[in-house]
Amino acid sequence: MASLKFEHIYKVYEGGVKAVSDLNLEIKDNEFVVFVGPSGCGKSTTLRMIAGLEEITSGNLYIDDKIVNDVSPKDRDITMVFQNYALYQHMTVYDNIAFGLKMAKVPKDEIKKRIENAAEILGLTPYLSRKPKALSGGQRQRVALGRSIVREPKVFLLDEPLSNLDAKLRVSMRSEITKLHRRLKTTFVYVTHDQTEAMTMGTIIVVMRNGVVQQVDTPSNLYDHPANVFVASFLGSPQMNLFNAKLLKEGNKYVGVINKNDSTFKVHIHDNTIHQLISYSYIGKDIILGIRPEEIFEVNEDDEDAVPVIVDVIEKLGSEIICYTQIENTDIPLVVKLDGRKEVKEGDKIFVQFHTRHVHLFDKDNERRISGISSENYIKSKIDYDKGVVSFANVDIKLNEEDKNKVLPEFRGSHDILIKIPTNAFKLEKGKDDDLVLDAKIEIVEQSKEQSLLYVSLMHKKSYIAVKFNKGEYKEGEKIKLYIPLENITLYDENLKNRIVSRFEFISNTTKCLVKKNKKGLNEIIFGNFKLIGDLSLNEGEYNLFIPYDAFTPVNKRKEINKHQCMKFKCVNEDSLGDNTLLYANLDCFEDYICIKAGKDDTCFKRNKQTFNIDLNKIIFTKI
Ligand code: ADP
Repeated sequence: MASLKFEHIYKVYEGGVKAVSDLNLEIKDNEFVVFVGPSGCGKSTTLRMIAGLEEITSGNLYIDDKIVNDVSPKDRDITMVFQNYALYQHMTVYDNIAFGLKMAKVPKDEIKKRIENAAEILGLTPYLSRKPKALSGGQRQRVALGRSIVREPKVFLLDEPLSNLDAKLRVSMRSEITKLHRRLKTTFVYVTHDQTEAMTMGTIIVVMRNGVVQQVDTPSNLYDHPANVFVASFLGSPQMNLFNAKLLKEGNKYVGVINKNDSTFKVHIHDNTIHQLISYSYIGKDIILGIRPEEIFEVNEDDEDAVPVIVDVIEKLGSEIICYTQIENTDIPLVVKLDGRKEVKEGDKIFVQFHTRHVHLFDKDNERRISGISSENYIKSKIDYDKGVVSFANVDIKLNEEDKNKVLPEFRGSHDILIKIPTNAFKLEKGKDDDLVLDAKIEIVEQSKEQSLLYVSLMHKKSYIAVKFNKGEYKEGEKIKLYIPLENITLYDENLKNRIVSRFEFISNTTKCLVKKNKKGLNEIIFGNFKLIGDLSLNEGEYNLFIPYDAFTPVNKRKEINKHQCMKFKCVNEDSLGDNTLLYANLDCFEDYICIKAGKDDTCFKRNKQTFNIDLNKIIFTKI
């Protein structure tokens, strides 16, 4: 039994591939966590870091509150089951399972006891004296699991363990592994690219893309409240229908107007979806509208709001039929799921309606969910840097000096921003004195199997915010006080491209330099081992030199290096903000560390020094 915690974990492979970027996650004891995402998104790398098979480039990995970065794999009390389980063909099942224990010099009696117990759990008792070649694929996979079980690990790691099995076996092994988890009551971490495995097995699912976590949630929340277009389209088969649309108010109703080429189509939007918008400023704007094929159902021609669609292609799957259709007289395609018994053929016209409560809305630019949030709220706010406050609704969040020093320089004024509050960060009781307090009214209650999701209204804020509690009794209309620990609040720019408060304070990027004039009349700026040359019309002499963090451009191709205006050094730390990465370096000639703004894929975790072109026009010189 064990819990796991990832704290700012990075993995950068030699050559500079960022396989995992700033992973922050807690996995509770006895959880069944599934990492899912397309090939190459960093799932296996994460698993291998837990196992200790891959060095952690930066950050801390905790098992049960102990940092294990440098603990060797065999001392981590973890076992791993791989996709390619290699059994010893010349040994019996018993000996295959016993092998690891014998190597670890576990007494014979104890080995026997553990194997009998594991064989019982896995239904392998009748096969213990057989050799692997006399077993089916599923039985062999169970032997591989048996080898892990007898080690009595604190954490079970499974890396696509079912992908070599045929479809039927995969289905039965899925439920066997789920049952195994229930019996063993230990933490399972499972990696797969298969969304069905993820949805059916995980108690918590972590969706990854390009090394970055997209959403961490229960299967039902992921399905009902995908955090962005990527998660929405990755989970669910066939994929969610997604359209470019405009969100409009018509009378006292709301519609999503889908546009494709010259055709348009209106989808009614439920009032709750509007109330759950993160901002009413989306009304009148272009958005992305999504509806799952299973939320579209067939109706009669004369039913109200019946939409005629023409069937293009059908796929009969037995219990259901997937119809690829087009809305009549438009270019708008619509995938619909029908009952398997329905008689339908290509070219048919059928009539459908939408479950409008299940229409998903996303921001057109950053593709994030904008209504019916389940994992995190993004709330429009203002930062007033001079006053040191962030305000939204009628609430002020005070920034202390340290926080202020961490704010990105371009946000040190008065700016519109977004604050992120995870839906599970709210408490009903005060924890610390500086907890943020909100007076709220419960407007909508959505109960799921595990949780209560409340949408609450705040004073001076029209749209609602989402709050998640353990399952309980909550009444619509009730007034409550919500407390939020300040560390759960994160500030982002308006477009959600970057976090605007870094992990480290901005020091000054300042040093002393000597300015000379060369024969061509150009200025030579000399500090430490660096020399920059440019036409700056400075008088010769000593200056204080301030290089703003955005004056550096990392260059990776030799021909793009501006020979006279570049610096080459090694960075030692970084902070991923989203679209940008802050890099930090210690250079002898600067009193303190310096900070550099770089792109998403730039990283300090490379073996070699990095070259940066410097924009001389951004440098500020002050004569000493
Ligand atoms: P997944 O398990 O999601 O398919 P991986 O964790 O295997 O993804 O890989 C994540 C990224 O890291 C990919 O871009 C992959 O090419 C790269 N990668 C994985 N292993 C290595 C390695 N040993 N050396 C260099 N790059 C690697």
